[in-house]
Amino acid sequence: MTEAALYVVATPIGNLADMVPRAIEVLQTVDVIAAEDTRHSSRLLSHFDINTPLLAYHDHSDDRRTRMLLERLQAGQSVALISDAGTPLISDPGYRLVQDVRQAGIRVVPIPGACALIAALSASGLPSDRFTFEGFLPAKSGQRSNRLHTLQAEPRTMIFYEAPHRIEASLADMAQAFGEDRPAVLAREVTKTFETIVGGSLAELVAFVSADSNQRRGEMVVLVEGAQRDSSALDAEAERVMTILLGDLSVKQASALAAEITGVKKKLLYQWALQQD
Ligand code: SAM
Repeated sequence: MTEAALYVVATPIGNLADMVPRAIEVLQTVDVIAAEDTRHSSRLLSHFDINTPLLAYHDHSDDRRTRMLLERLQAGQSVALISDAGTPLISDPGYRLVQDVRQAGIRVVPIPGACALIAALSASGLPSDRFTFEGFLPAKSGQRSNRLHTLQAEPRTMIFYEAPHRIEASLADMAQAFGEDRPAVLAREVTKTFETIVGGSLAELVAFVSADSNQRRGEMVVLVEGAQRDSSALDAEAERVMTILLGDLSVKQASALAAEITGVKKKLLYQWALQQD
């Protein structure tokens, strides 16, 4: 018998061979599987000979559905949560359920596996030491541009999910917000027959998807390199502290003190001070 817990189970993002053995075992042995779309998931489950009862769960499910799952868990049953593809909760339902289950003091067990953003990042060639996942951008052009402009100075690699019918417009808005030369990668149909992972400047990617309608099909992730740090720029707080201190102290003293206060490197503060007036 599988221990009573909520199992958050990743499923493949295209290639069924990416289903991990532990996911199959858990799905075969839990009491019930909560799925984003039961019809969609029943195909995957029958492929792996999983006959566990299925019920629908999405973030708009009413409280009764969440309560019913909680009651089952409290009664000692085991529940697995799956989404249509990849890792649940990653631009997919489950956040509310996981939060409620944890609040009720019941164990939540992750069964890791495929996730489109991580697969795309791992093959993108863009800096992967620090990154930010932005999920889906707003569908409306004005809101999308506003969101992108707030990310202009983001130094980490940015990862976006995008729908095929919006890819051209989104890439064009990114080129406008981040500059046409900003390096980016389009990762399309990852793990599937027409997998395409192509890198270039944002202007090149716009031209690439505009020229070939096949590049506007399927599922896609866009990754954009972060903004280069301008060595002559400081963040607003460091600038504020330096400006105050320079009113009374030498450049050397102000830089040393500001480094202690803000955590910014003394050398950077010193160079910034020399570049003023
Ligand atoms: N939970 C999923 C995960 O772990 O990646 C994501 C679900 S979200 C509703 C679906 C979006 O993920 C797609 O629109 C696309 O942006 C991205 N995606 C999913 N599968 C993909 C694939 N095989 N190749 C590229 N992007 C994919």
